Amino acid sequence: MLVLGWNVDERISVPDNSRNAARGVVAALAGPRSVELQQYALPEPGPGEALLEVLRANVCGSDVGIFHHRNPVLRDVVLGHEFVARVSALGDGLIQDSAGTPVSVGDRVVVVYFRVCGRCRPCGRGEFNMCVHWADTMAAPPGRAPHFHGAFATHYHLAAGRHFYVVPDVLTDAEVAGANCGLAQMLFTSERMGVRRGLTVVVQGCGGLGLYACAIGAASGARVIAVDRDPRRIAAAVQFGAAEVVDLGVHTTAADRERRMLDLTDGDGADLVVEVTGRPEAFGEAVSFARTGGSIASVGNLGVGPGSELAISPATFTRKNLTVKGYLRYDPWYLRRALDFLVDTRDLHPYGTMSDRVYALDEIPAAVARTESGHAMRAAVVP
Ligand SMILES: [Zn+2]
Ligand SMILES: [Zn+2]
Repeated sequence: MLVLGWNVDERISVPDNSRNAARGVVAALAGPRSVELQQYALPEPGPGEALLEVLRANVCGSDVGIFHHRNPVLRDVVLGHEFVARVSALGDGLIQDSAGTPVSVGDRVVVVYFRVCGRCRPCGRGEFNMCVHWADTMAAPPGRAPHFHGAFATHYHLAAGRHFYVVPDVLTDAEVAGANCGLAQMLFTSERMGVRRGLTVVVQGCGGLGLYACAIGAASGARVIAVDRDPRRIAAAVQFGAAEVVDLGVHTTAADRERRMLDLTDGDGADLVVEVTGRPEAFGEAVSFARTGGSIASVGNLGVGPGSELAISPATFTRKNLTVKGYLRYDPWYLRRALDFLVDTRDLHPYGTMSDRVYALDEIPAAVARTESGHAMRAAVVP
């Protein structure tokens, strides 16, 4: 049963069939670590819009930072952005997805979680992942119509012009729920970094992003070395294509790990390092893992706040001829590629097992804590 609470002390219950009624529920962030379930009338989709029913949403690493109010833009919001949904209602004129596939009520879809307007300066430069309107939906307060701005909710309002793709029938909800953030992000990152056969790729952190990075690296023919401390994540990294692992429980110091990395790379260091840990100190280790002339992708430390500064000598980058590049969001069509990638590799890797526990909408703080603990790949929310 869903439990609605305007605050912790005052909770009201609604019947299980609430999602079929004309009202829905969103998990609103009312303050740091304070989640309220709020009920709103379901919006009628206007021209080019759609109303979606959320089937499954994951707690992404960046949700953890938002939950703690570390994100400067996303404060008074509906939580959740990594999800798969089913079309409940289509507005006039919305007859196909962003790749031209016909869409009907009842189809499952994945949504590019940020807006790409196509008209701003970054979009004009082809830097679609940097669209200045990216947060138009995500940053909207829950009290503002059409209310259903996030994925930790019974429903999601798809605004006109937003990118979305119909999900192939062969993919389960659990397999595809991570496509629109984790997998599309890592496909974009890996392609921009030039991950390919013959290169050694270190993946620091084996949560959702890290496991996707392992799978993409393996599919590209690269040799993947995964770094983590949790035994379950390390085992998963091997299942997702890592050829070697560096276990922080065995190699307990940074110097130890650097030596191990040199041993595994004939004394060179790694061609490419993908940092997806959410731990600032891991970036310092990325610098030590990369070979001279190597590249580092900084992806995982989006959600860390003040107090996470590092002291690194700029000379390190010069001496090693390092390339360091941050990657945030992706060009929207990478989500279509993510669906193809899942269809192509679903027999190789157990995508459906990436979250080991499912939470209800009134358990969001527990789900976030589970992801934050570093022991789950992805906690999943099923409204
Ligand atoms: Zn995310
Ligand atoms: Zn734009």
